[in-house]
Amino acid sequence: MPELPEVETVKSALDISLKGKVIHQVKTSGKLMRWPIPSDIGEVITGAIVTSCHRRAKYILINMVKRQQELTLLVHLGMSGSVRIYPAKMAAIAAKTHDHLIIEAAQDNHLITAVLNDPRRFGGVALMPSNTVEQHPLVKHLGPEPLGNRWNADAFHNELKRRKAPIKAVLLDQHVVAGIGNIYASEALYLAGIAPKRAAHRISKAKAEMLTQAVRQVLTQAIEAGGTSLRDHVQPGGEIGYFAQQLRVYGRQGAPCHDCGKPIKMIRQSGRASFYCPQCQR
Ligand SMILES: [Zn+2]
Repeated sequence: MPELPEVETVKSALDISLKGKVIHQVKTSGKLMRWPIPSDIGEVITGAIVTSCHRRAKYILINMVKRQQELTLLVHLGMSGSVRIYPAKMAAIAAKTHDHLIIEAAQDNHLITAVLNDPRRFGGVALMPSNTVEQHPLVKHLGPEPLGNRWNADAFHNELKRRKAPIKAVLLDQHVVAGIGNIYASEALYLAGIAPKRAAHRISKAKAEMLTQAVRQVLTQAIEAGGTSLRDHVQPGGEIGYFAQQLRVYGRQGAPCHDCGKPIKMIRQSGRASFYCPQCQR
């Protein structure tokens, strides 16, 4: 499942590839994703010039302008979404099963085709006037960005004090802080030395501070790794290089902790796997 750093990498690849280009042609699969792809999407965005790509939580926002109207295409990768980018016309690329949205754009002689593929179709795309993005039902209730200035240890600790749920669940709550997924929640808790089952309201100010830093560190490191793999982002198959990650606990059940050598444990919390070191995390 693409997490925030992967979404950031895809966003950067789309920004490099699409910015300044005019959308020439759009094709959709007509299949239902998490919600229907707007049926008039081709009509609406053909002729638009892409001005920038951003990320909010795990949503990619592609901003464009057409006849002085500012539009935003929101792309959600869901569980299994990926994007391919080709320096070629739409007609020249080999379509794959589960390609749901294909956009061809060009500037001068530079042609790009971007393809959204999603086998499980938990992802989706939505189109809206740019000035309504913050009010969109998917965006409206999102908490602050973990890498943004609005999220800090003080605000986070105040939020934790009101919650009796396990800290892992609170980190995954998109109202508290937006975009942290299962992998990076486990990684950040390990770095901060906090057990995933620990009740949020019992976490001290000092520990909340450490956890804030740990969240930023794991996300930033993963984004930097993605940035490295992005240098050759237009690959022969069009895939954007998802990067091999240096994970400290996630997926390492039974393997020795890098700090103390004790085996990493796996537990299930609300149906989701949490990995932690019982010695280093309290
Ligand atoms: Zn340990």
